[in-house]
Amino acid sequence: MELSDAQFERYARHLVLDEVGEEGQRKLLNARVLVVGAGGLGSPLLLYLAAAGVGTLGVIDDDAVDLSNLQRQIVHPTESIGMAKVESARRTLSHLNPEVKVETHRARLTEANVAEIIGAYDLAADGSDNFATRYLLNDTCYRLRKPLIGAALSPFDGQLSTFKAYLGPPHPCYRCLFREAPPPDSVPRCETAGILGAIAGVMGTLQATEVLKELLGIGEGLSGTLLVYDALRAGFHKIKLPRDPDCPTCGTRS
Ligand SMILES: [Zn+2]
Repeated sequence: MELSDAQFERYARHLVLDEVGEEGQRKLLNARVLVVGAGGLGSPLLLYLAAAGVGTLGVIDDDAVDLSNLQRQIVHPTESIGMAKVESARRTLSHLNPEVKVETHRARLTEANVAEIIGAYDLAADGSDNFATRYLLNDTCYRLRKPLIGAALSPFDGQLSTFKAYLGPPHPCYRCLFREAPPPDSVPRCETAGILGAIAGVMGTLQATEVLKELLGIGEGLSGTLLVYDALRAGFHKIKLPRDPDCPTCGTRS
């Protein structure tokens, strides 16, 4: 596949990079990425992946745009209030980069649909805000051997990691880190706890960067490492994540 004249111009700042170039840009144009959740993390994820020319973006979310979302969910304009988030995101992305194909799934990920949906993509990025979805994605991506790039938000900090436990030790999965979900309501969600909106932008943009690195096969990934951002101290630190041989998902001891 040859790049068109318009593509040469649109992606010029990628094409001059040795680490991307025409070959890398073609990889991005042929890639299929699933973004779970079109909210605070999903917004910068979708915007930067579409701008980068990731050829097919799947977006799954069952929610509609609410006025209180707009403080951080920057893929949605005010005119979208009341509209399905997946449709609102598709419209914004089509203005940003009309050649990106956006596949919308207005649904929640469930045991019944997760394998079919994830199976259609090369990689999944988790921008969900609940533990049930996080574990479902972890276990399914492990089983289907798909890289999973996950992020989580707190009011003033964020966490990011990549999970590729299907490659075997020492790569951990999310369940190696947190075996069980905390009891419901023990962890406050954005809607109730609040969040400084730009923190979703920082974490979703870091997540988009890791997705692009995975697709291009460049640099060092975050498998086995948790990257933590502390906004109030304006600092980042990394924590090593060991694989748990007794993990119910990827454990080798059972
Ligand atoms: Zn595990």
